[in-house]
Amino acid sequence: MSLTNAPRPLRSVLIANRGEIACRVMRTARRLGLRTIAVYSDADANARHVREADEAVRLGPAPARESYLDIDKVIAAAKLSGADAIHPGYGFLSENAEFVAACEAAEIVFVGPPASAIAAMGDKASAKARMANAGVPLVPGYHGEAQDDALLREEAGKIGYPVLLKASAGGGGKGMRVVESDREFQAALDGCRRESRAAFGDERMLIEKYLTQPRHVEVQVFCDSQGNGVYLFERDCSVQRRHQKVLEEAPAPNLSPALRQAMGEAAVRAAQEIGYVGAGTVEFLLDAASETSSSEAVHFYFMEMNTRLQVEHPVTEMITGEDLVEWQLRVAAGLPLPKAQDELTLTGHAIEARLYAEDPDNDFLPATGTLERFGLDPNAGGLAPERVRLDSGVEAGDDVSMHYDPMLAKLIVHGEDRGQALAEMDRALAALDVSGVTTNRRFLQRLVTHPDFIAARLDTRFIEHHHDDLFANEPVTDADIARAALVALDRLDRASDERSPWERSDGWRLNAPQHVRLAFAEAEGTPPIPVVATRSASHSTWQLSVNRNGEESNHYEGKLQRLDGDAVAITLDGHRRRLLARTELSAGGETIILTAAGFESRLIWRRSDRVDHLSHEVAAKLSAPMHGTVVALLVEPGQPVEKGTPLVVVEAMKMEHTLSAPAAGAVEAFHFKVGDAVAQGDELLAFASAEATEGV
Ligand code: ADP
Repeated sequence: MSLTNAPRPLRSVLIANRGEIACRVMRTARRLGLRTIAVYSDADANARHVREADEAVRLGPAPARESYLDIDKVIAAAKLSGADAIHPGYGFLSENAEFVAACEAAEIVFVGPPASAIAAMGDKASAKARMANAGVPLVPGYHGEAQDDALLREEAGKIGYPVLLKASAGGGGKGMRVVESDREFQAALDGCRRESRAAFGDERMLIEKYLTQPRHVEVQVFCDSQGNGVYLFERDCSVQRRHQKVLEEAPAPNLSPALRQAMGEAAVRAAQEIGYVGAGTVEFLLDAASETSSSEAVHFYFMEMNTRLQVEHPVTEMITGEDLVEWQLRVAAGLPLPKAQDELTLTGHAIEARLYAEDPDNDFLPATGTLERFGLDPNAGGLAPERVRLDSGVEAGDDVSMHYDPMLAKLIVHGEDRGQALAEMDRALAALDVSGVTTNRRFLQRLVTHPDFIAARLDTRFIEHHHDDLFANEPVTDADIARAALVALDRLDRASDERSPWERSDGWRLNAPQHVRLAFAEAEGTPPIPVVATRSASHSTWQLSVNRNGEESNHYEGKLQRLDGDAVAITLDGHRRRLLARTELSAGGETIILTAAGFESRLIWRRSDRVDHLSHEVAAKLSAPMHGTVVALLVEPGQPVEKGTPLVVVEAMKMEHTLSAPAAGAVEAFHFKVGDAVAQGDELLAFASAEATEGV
């Protein structure tokens, strides 16, 4: 049934959000024939969600309080544009009961649960009381009304340390602290109260037993206004930083079908207990120790219910083949759920990685800037497009401001099983072409290739426990440096080709440098690592010597072949690798970035290379001007010579031609001996000039 002749007809929807979720919701709304209306703050006037919408209405200045969180302005925008419904996305006003009431008052359909259901789950303490009623298991703890310090401390003692203090009104990990012992209790309580008062204007606390190695497993539920409820299986979101999710997957690894069903049914009971309608997520903690046992022996505990669509909903879409936004819109229009429980199936495995504009190596500090490039590089090898989804709210050229959440996009992959999904994710992350803004891309790659993640040894402190591996500065090998050098050499050649394109007509680079000294640094301020490159006589390969800290040099023979776009094939001593090669300007020079699945190397190319520069004219003199014979070598290799010193004599057509030093320097090697025949264009010798020359 179309949404236009549903019990509550929908022809248009306003999305009271921004970024990737606004774009995501509009995609389905458009497919269902709805007119889409975006809202925006001044910081987002030209944002992607505004560009993609049929209409867009300005809310106000950049701060969320004056724009996306301003209920009156959002309602006014809906009236102005004649929106039949408002989809709140996640965050912002999505779990605000007052906003739902305002929609009702304005006779606009709110795509989400009734205000009463939001209110019931909005407070963690009263939510726990309701859940206990519905027979949903709770973490042992205290969630009573009495709040005096002595009583709370006594309750904590009864529960047994460690305990977790949580703000009743809390969310987003705020007002939450682990308390290890009775001695620390008072200080932690004071701290949590302060935080909670500042963030939520409320200082009520609850206490829970702190599970030291739990998994975060949540169940997707859906209810319609006819009283039907189903669960669309679960997601494991154990990999978190600062209690915020980084990787999510569905289904949860190693969950027995019995436990899956028990959790699913408990989640539907939880939703129905509060008269839920729409998409919701019931979050549970799972005792990691009991994950493979049967449902009777396993402990899972209700944590909270999120009364909205979750960031990580795409992994559920991928394993069920359902469009959850479509379900939301249908339910909001008063239609029944599209499927019953026994019609829902679970196929394969899906993983989502959240791409944040942040610096993992700097305590996940949010990053800002202008995205120079953004997207999945189609030239990356081995990607299966039908298995990969990139949900983003940005495009190249967009600004990333400090006003909103730093999440830029979500990369979601699907595989026949978890192993395939992991491999797909690794490749997709390598193909993610993003520059201009620091992101956690490389960190995500390290996560998905970590042996314990691959083995699904998951718990909510995964990142903390594997800190050393995940944040390790990967050692840069000499081979990495040699590969970067080949990229640099290719850039130099390209630059000189552009300057004198006719040189390429016979495939013979008359003026290309034969000897280049390059320098790389692992990071700004680290000592330069010199590389000496010598082009082979055939011009197809380079001999490279990498010399670190005066240690013995490592020698390589390498070549680079350009493929499509940024893709290159680099062969080093017979080992060919397909990589994406990019350069980014940085303070210390140009950073050469090479990526492949599970691999990234970044090296700063110090652009004060000493290129033994052979100008067109000079080079011509060092190559045989025509077919002939070498008749004299006039200097010894290595002997210092002045510019203009005669070096070699070639006889051709009965005339002698003398080639002279193009600059002060020395002949490194003669490639022919007296009596040898040479062809026109043959390089006769390798010359190193004493003077450094910038660039080519
Ligand atoms: P918020 O609403 O602030 O996000 P939650 O109650 O959802 O807070 O908890 C957030 C995260 O904190 C969970 O995903 C989990 O990692 C951790 N957590 C919450 N309760 C416990 C507990 N009792 N024991 C151990 N970890 C917990």
